[in-house]
Amino acid sequence: MAIILDGKALAASLRRKYREEAAHLPRRPGIAVILVGDDPASQLYVKNKAKDCEECGFFSRRFDLPADVSEEALIGTINKLNAMPAIDGVLVQLPLPASINERRIIEAIAPEKDVDAFHPLNVGRMVRGDSGIWPCTPAGIGELLDAYQIPVEGKICVMVGRSDIVGKPMGLLLLRRNGTVIYCHSRTPDLAALTCQADILIVAAGCPGLIRADMVKPGAAVIDVAMNRDPVTGKFTGDVCFDEVKELASHITPVPGGVGPMTRAMLMRNVLLLAREHMGLGQSGE
Ligand code: NAP
Repeated sequence: MAIILDGKALAASLRRKYREEAAHLPRRPGIAVILVGDDPASQLYVKNKAKDCEECGFFSRRFDLPADVSEEALIGTINKLNAMPAIDGVLVQLPLPASINERRIIEAIAPEKDVDAFHPLNVGRMVRGDSGIWPCTPAGIGELLDAYQIPVEGKICVMVGRSDIVGKPMGLLLLRRNGTVIYCHSRTPDLAALTCQADILIVAAGCPGLIRADMVKPGAAVIDVAMNRDPVTGKFTGDVCFDEVKELASHITPVPGGVGPMTRAMLMRNVLLLAREHMGLGQSGE
Protein backbone atom coordinates (compact mmCIF):
# COMPACT_ATOMS: atom_id res chain seq x y z
CA MET A 1 0.00 0.00 0.00
CA ALA A 2 1.47 3.33 -1.12
CA ILE A 3 2.42 6.28 1.07
CA ILE A 4 -0.09 9.05 0.35
CA LEU A 5 1.65 12.34 -0.47
CA ASP A 6 -0.24 14.86 1.63
CA GLY A 7 0.04 18.09 -0.36
CA LYS A 8 -2.55 19.82 1.78
CA ALA A 9 -0.58 19.41 5.01
CA LEU A 10 2.75 20.22 3.39
CA ALA A 11 1.32 23.36 1.75
CA ALA A 12 -0.06 24.54 5.11
CA SER A 13 3.31 24.09 6.79
CA LEU A 14 5.05 25.93 3.93
CA ARG A 15 2.63 28.86 4.25
CA ARG A 16 3.54 29.11 7.94
CA LYS A 17 7.21 29.09 7.01
CA TYR A 18 6.73 31.79 4.37
CA ARG A 19 4.81 33.94 6.86
CA GLU A 20 7.69 33.71 9.27
CA GLU A 21 10.21 34.56 6.56
CA ALA A 22 8.11 37.49 5.31
CA ALA A 23 7.85 38.91 8.82
CA HIS A 24 11.62 39.41 8.85
CA LEU A 25 11.75 41.35 5.57
CA PRO A 26 12.07 45.16 5.44
CA ARG A 27 8.61 45.38 3.82
CA ARG A 28 5.71 43.07 2.99
CA PRO A 29 6.01 41.10 -0.26
CA GLY A 30 3.30 42.21 -2.68
CA ILE A 31 1.43 40.73 -5.62
CA ALA A 32 -1.06 42.17 -8.10
CA VAL A 33 -3.59 39.78 -9.63
CA ILE A 34 -5.46 40.81 -12.76
CA LEU A 35 -8.73 39.09 -13.57
CA VAL A 36 -10.32 39.67 -16.96
CA GLY A 37 -14.02 38.80 -17.23
CA ASP A 38 -16.14 36.89 -14.73
CA ASP A 39 -15.41 33.20 -15.29
CA PRO A 40 -16.52 31.51 -12.02
CA ALA A 41 -13.51 29.13 -11.84
CA SER A 42 -11.08 32.02 -12.36
CA GLN A 43 -12.94 34.09 -9.73
CA LEU A 44 -12.43 31.26 -7.24
CA TYR A 45 -8.72 30.88 -8.08
CA VAL A 46 -8.17 34.62 -7.63
CA LYS A 47 -10.07 34.62 -4.33
CA ASN A 48 -7.93 31.72 -3.08
CA LYS A 49 -4.76 33.56 -4.05
CA ALA A 50 -5.83 36.57 -1.96
CA LYS A 51 -6.61 34.25 0.96
CA ASP A 52 -3.18 32.57 0.71
CA CYS A 53 -1.48 35.99 0.59
CA GLU A 54 -3.30 37.05 3.72
CA GLU A 55 -2.24 33.87 5.49
CA CYS A 56 1.39 34.46 4.50
CA GLY A 57 1.31 38.12 5.53
CA PHE A 58 1.74 39.36 1.94
CA PHE A 59 0.12 42.41 0.41
CA SER A 60 -2.20 41.60 -2.52
CA ARG A 61 -4.16 43.79 -4.87
CA ARG A 62 -6.80 42.60 -7.27
CA PHE A 63 -7.70 44.30 -10.55
CA ASP A 64 -10.98 43.29 -12.19
CA LEU A 65 -11.22 44.19 -15.86
CA PRO A 66 -14.24 43.61 -18.13
CA ALA A 67 -14.19 40.69 -20.59
CA ASP A 68 -14.18 43.15 -23.50
CA VAL A 69 -11.13 45.08 -22.25
CA SER A 70 -8.74 45.92 -25.09
CA GLU A 71 -5.28 44.36 -25.25
CA GLU A 72 -3.78 47.86 -25.06
CA ALA A 73 -5.70 48.73 -21.89
CA LEU A 74 -4.68 45.45 -20.26
CA ILE A 75 -1.03 46.06 -21.19
CA GLY A 76 -1.38 49.60 -19.81
CA THR A 77 -2.43 48.17 -16.42
CA ILE A 78 0.47 45.68 -16.49
CA ASN A 79 2.95 48.48 -17.31
CA LYS A 80 1.78 50.50 -14.32
CA LEU A 81 2.17 47.49 -12.04
CA ASN A 82 5.60 46.70 -13.53
CA ALA A 83 6.69 50.16 -12.37
CA MET A 84 5.27 49.98 -8.82
CA PRO A 85 7.98 49.20 -6.22
CA ALA A 86 5.51 47.71 -3.71
CA ILE A 87 4.47 45.06 -6.23
CA ASP A 88 6.89 42.12 -6.47
CA GLY A 89 4.77 39.88 -8.68
CA VAL A 90 2.25 40.54 -11.44
CA LEU A 91 -0.12 37.71 -12.30
CA VAL A 92 -2.71 37.68 -15.05
CA GLN A 93 -5.24 34.94 -14.36
CA LEU A 94 -5.49 32.58 -17.34
CA PRO A 95 -7.29 31.73 -19.54
CA LEU A 96 -7.97 35.12 -21.10
CA PRO A 97 -10.91 35.81 -23.42
CA ALA A 98 -10.28 34.57 -26.98
CA SER A 99 -10.06 38.16 -28.27
CA ILE A 100 -6.84 38.71 -26.31
CA ASN A 101 -3.44 37.42 -27.40
CA GLU A 102 -2.29 35.54 -24.30
CA ARG A 103 1.36 35.39 -25.36
CA ARG A 104 1.53 39.16 -25.87
CA ILE A 105 0.09 39.71 -22.39
CA ILE A 106 2.54 37.31 -20.74
CA GLU A 107 5.40 39.05 -22.53
CA ALA A 108 4.22 42.44 -21.21
CA ILE A 109 4.88 41.35 -17.61
CA ALA A 110 8.35 42.41 -16.49
CA PRO A 111 10.45 39.19 -16.27
CA GLU A 112 11.54 40.13 -12.74
CA LYS A 113 7.87 40.31 -11.68
CA ASP A 114 6.76 37.21 -13.60
CA VAL A 115 5.56 35.24 -10.60
CA ASP A 116 4.17 32.39 -12.75
CA ALA A 117 7.52 32.03 -14.61
CA PHE A 118 5.74 32.02 -17.99
CA HIS A 119 7.71 34.89 -19.62
CA PRO A 120 9.96 33.64 -22.48
CA LEU A 121 13.05 34.97 -20.69
CA ASN A 122 12.24 32.90 -17.61
CA VAL A 123 11.37 29.89 -19.77
CA GLY A 124 14.78 30.27 -21.46
CA ARG A 125 16.52 30.37 -18.08
CA MET A 126 14.67 27.23 -17.08
CA VAL A 127 15.68 25.40 -20.28
CA ARG A 128 19.28 26.45 -19.71
CA GLY A 129 19.09 25.03 -16.19
CA ASP A 130 19.69 28.35 -14.41
CA SER A 131 18.34 28.62 -10.91
CA GLY A 132 15.40 30.90 -10.33
CA ILE A 133 11.66 30.69 -10.03
CA TRP A 134 9.77 27.84 -11.66
CA PRO A 135 6.13 27.51 -12.70
CA CYS A 136 4.05 26.69 -9.63
CA THR A 137 2.86 23.17 -10.45
CA PRO A 138 6.27 21.64 -11.27
CA ALA A 139 7.82 23.54 -8.35
CA GLY A 140 5.15 22.11 -6.04
CA ILE A 141 5.81 18.57 -7.24
CA GLY A 142 9.54 19.16 -6.69
CA GLU A 143 8.77 20.15 -3.08
CA LEU A 144 6.60 17.06 -2.59
CA LEU A 145 9.37 14.78 -3.88
CA ASP A 146 11.82 16.47 -1.50
CA ALA A 147 9.50 16.32 1.50
CA TYR A 148 8.93 12.58 1.05
CA GLN A 149 12.59 11.95 0.15
CA ILE A 150 11.86 10.52 -3.26
CA PRO A 151 15.15 10.62 -5.18
CA VAL A 152 15.16 11.62 -8.84
CA GLU A 153 18.80 11.16 -9.79
CA GLY A 154 19.30 8.09 -11.96
CA LYS A 155 15.57 7.33 -12.06
CA ILE A 156 13.39 6.79 -15.12
CA CYS A 157 10.83 9.62 -15.04
CA VAL A 158 7.82 9.44 -17.33
CA MET A 159 5.89 12.66 -17.88
CA VAL A 160 2.44 12.20 -19.43
CA GLY A 161 1.50 15.58 -20.93
CA ARG A 162 3.63 18.26 -22.57
CA SER A 163 1.81 21.54 -21.87
CA ASP A 164 3.79 24.73 -21.40
CA ILE A 165 2.63 25.17 -17.81
CA VAL A 166 2.88 21.61 -16.47
CA GLY A 167 4.41 18.87 -18.64
CA LYS A 168 7.31 20.67 -20.32
CA PRO A 169 8.66 22.48 -17.24
CA MET A 170 8.11 19.41 -15.07
CA GLY A 171 10.30 17.33 -17.39
CA LEU A 172 12.97 20.06 -17.27
CA LEU A 173 12.89 20.09 -13.48
CA LEU A 174 13.37 16.31 -13.37
CA LEU A 175 16.19 16.58 -15.91
CA ARG A 176 17.85 19.27 -13.76
CA ARG A 177 17.70 16.77 -10.90
CA ASN A 178 19.44 14.18 -13.10
CA GLY A 179 16.41 12.05 -13.87
CA THR A 180 16.10 10.32 -17.26
CA VAL A 181 12.97 11.89 -18.70
CA ILE A 182 10.51 10.45 -21.20
CA TYR A 183 7.71 12.72 -22.42
CA CYS A 184 4.41 11.16 -23.51
CA HIS A 185 1.47 12.92 -25.14
CA SER A 186 -1.66 12.26 -27.17
CA ARG A 187 0.37 10.98 -30.16
CA THR A 188 2.41 8.51 -28.12
CA PRO A 189 1.51 5.12 -29.69
CA ASP A 190 1.92 2.70 -26.76
CA LEU A 191 1.56 4.72 -23.57
CA ALA A 192 1.50 1.70 -21.26
CA ALA A 193 4.84 0.40 -22.59
CA LEU A 194 6.45 3.65 -21.41
CA THR A 195 4.54 4.28 -18.17
CA CYS A 196 5.43 0.73 -17.07
CA GLN A 197 9.12 1.72 -17.10
CA ALA A 198 8.67 4.70 -14.79
CA ASP A 199 10.25 4.91 -11.35
CA ILE A 200 8.53 8.29 -11.14
CA LEU A 201 5.31 8.66 -13.13
CA ILE A 202 3.79 12.11 -13.42
CA VAL A 203 0.43 12.41 -15.15
CA ALA A 204 -1.09 15.66 -16.44
CA ALA A 205 -3.34 14.74 -19.37
CA GLY A 206 -6.80 15.69 -18.13
CA CYS A 207 -8.21 12.22 -18.98
CA PRO A 208 -10.00 10.56 -16.04
CA GLY A 209 -9.06 6.89 -15.62
CA LEU A 210 -6.15 7.09 -18.09
CA ILE A 211 -3.64 5.32 -15.82
CA ARG A 212 -4.69 1.89 -14.57
CA ALA A 213 -2.73 -0.44 -12.27
CA ASP A 214 -1.40 -2.53 -15.19
CA MET A 215 0.32 0.60 -16.55
CA VAL A 216 2.37 1.19 -13.40
CA LYS A 217 5.63 -0.45 -12.30
CA PRO A 218 5.37 -1.87 -8.76
CA GLY A 219 7.16 0.49 -6.37
CA ALA A 220 6.82 3.56 -8.61
CA ALA A 221 6.05 7.02 -7.22
CA VAL A 222 2.89 8.23 -8.96
CA ILE A 223 2.02 11.93 -9.12
CA ASP A 224 -1.43 12.80 -10.44
CA VAL A 225 -1.63 16.43 -11.51
CA ALA A 226 -5.02 16.32 -13.20
CA MET A 227 -8.12 18.02 -11.88
CA ASN A 228 -11.09 16.60 -13.78
CA ARG A 229 -14.49 17.77 -12.59
CA ASP A 230 -17.06 14.97 -12.63
CA PRO A 231 -20.05 16.37 -14.56
CA VAL A 232 -22.52 14.47 -12.36
CA THR A 233 -21.14 14.82 -8.83
CA GLY A 234 -19.14 18.03 -9.43
CA LYS A 235 -16.24 16.40 -7.55
CA PHE A 236 -12.64 16.44 -8.77
CA THR A 237 -10.85 13.29 -9.91
CA GLY A 238 -7.39 12.72 -11.33
CA ASP A 239 -6.12 10.79 -14.35
CA VAL A 240 -4.92 7.86 -12.22
CA CYS A 241 -7.22 5.06 -10.99
CA PHE A 242 -6.27 5.84 -7.40
CA ASP A 243 -7.80 2.83 -5.63
CA GLU A 244 -6.08 0.23 -7.77
CA VAL A 245 -2.75 2.05 -8.29
CA LYS A 246 -2.25 2.78 -4.57
CA GLU A 247 -2.00 -0.98 -4.00
CA LEU A 248 1.26 -1.28 -5.94
CA ALA A 249 2.85 2.19 -6.01
CA SER A 250 5.42 3.26 -3.40
CA HIS A 251 3.94 6.77 -3.20
CA ILE A 252 0.83 8.37 -4.68
CA THR A 253 -0.86 11.77 -4.63
CA PRO A 254 -4.58 12.01 -3.89
CA VAL A 255 -6.90 14.22 -5.96
CA PRO A 256 -7.84 16.55 -4.43
CA GLY A 257 -5.28 17.23 -1.72
CA GLY A 258 -2.06 16.33 -3.54
CA VAL A 259 -0.60 18.59 -6.23
CA GLY A 260 -3.32 21.29 -6.16
CA PRO A 261 -2.49 22.75 -2.72
CA MET A 262 1.22 22.61 -3.57
CA THR A 263 0.62 24.66 -6.73
CA ARG A 264 -1.05 27.33 -4.59
CA ALA A 265 1.76 27.27 -2.03
CA MET A 266 4.41 27.68 -4.72
CA LEU A 267 2.82 30.90 -5.90
CA MET A 268 3.48 32.22 -2.40
CA ARG A 269 7.04 30.92 -2.57
CA ASN A 270 7.59 32.68 -5.89
CA VAL A 271 6.25 35.98 -4.51
CA LEU A 272 8.63 35.65 -1.58
CA LEU A 273 11.61 34.80 -3.82
CA LEU A 274 10.92 37.77 -6.12
CA ALA A 275 10.41 40.08 -3.13
CA ARG A 276 13.73 38.99 -1.62
CA GLU A 277 15.41 39.68 -4.93
CA HIS A 278 13.80 43.13 -5.19
CA MET A 279 14.98 43.89 -1.67
CA GLY A 280 18.54 42.90 -2.61
CA LEU A 281 18.48 39.81 -0.39
CA GLY A 282 19.16 37.23 -3.09
CA GLN A 283 17.14 34.33 -4.40
CA SER A 284 17.23 30.62 -3.68
CA GLY A 285 14.94 28.93 -6.21
CA GLU A 286 15.26 25.47 -7.78
P1 NAP B 1 -3.30 20.60 -21.47
O1 NAP B 1 -2.67 21.88 -21.86
O2 NAP B 1 -4.65 20.25 -22.01
O3 NAP B 1 -2.30 19.41 -21.82
C1 NAP B 1 -2.65 18.08 -21.70
C2 NAP B 1 -1.52 17.24 -22.20
O4 NAP B 1 -1.88 15.87 -22.06
C3 NAP B 1 -1.18 17.46 -23.67
O5 NAP B 1 0.21 17.49 -23.84
C4 NAP B 1 -1.80 16.26 -24.38
O6 NAP B 1 -1.10 15.85 -25.52
C5 NAP B 1 -1.69 15.19 -23.29
N1 NAP B 1 -2.72 14.17 -23.45
C6 NAP B 1 -4.06 14.35 -23.60
N2 NAP B 1 -4.67 13.16 -23.71
C7 NAP B 1 -3.71 12.21 -23.63
C8 NAP B 1 -3.72 10.80 -23.68
N3 NAP B 1 -4.86 10.11 -23.84
N4 NAP B 1 -2.56 10.14 -23.57
C9 NAP B 1 -1.40 10.83 -23.39
N5 NAP B 1 -1.32 12.16 -23.33
C10 NAP B 1 -2.47 12.85 -23.44
O7 NAP B 1 -3.47 20.51 -19.90
P2 NAP B 1 -2.57 21.08 -18.68
O8 NAP B 1 -2.81 22.52 -18.53
O9 NAP B 1 -1.18 20.58 -18.76
O10 NAP B 1 -3.31 20.34 -17.48
C11 NAP B 1 -3.39 18.93 -17.43
C12 NAP B 1 -4.28 18.52 -16.28
O11 NAP B 1 -3.71 19.01 -15.07
C13 NAP B 1 -5.69 19.10 -16.31
O12 NAP B 1 -6.56 18.17 -15.72
C14 NAP B 1 -5.61 20.34 -15.43
O13 NAP B 1 -6.84 20.68 -14.84
C15 NAP B 1 -4.63 19.84 -14.39
N6 NAP B 1 -3.85 20.90 -13.73
C16 NAP B 1 -3.75 20.78 -12.38
C17 NAP B 1 -2.99 21.68 -11.68
C18 NAP B 1 -2.87 21.51 -10.22
O14 NAP B 1 -2.39 22.40 -9.54
N7 NAP B 1 -3.25 20.36 -9.69
C19 NAP B 1 -2.32 22.71 -12.35
C20 NAP B 1 -2.42 22.78 -13.74
C21 NAP B 1 -3.19 21.85 -14.42
P3 NAP B 1 -0.94 16.77 -26.86
O15 NAP B 1 0.11 17.78 -26.51
O16 NAP B 1 -0.51 15.83 -27.89
O17 NAP B 1 -2.28 17.40 -27.09
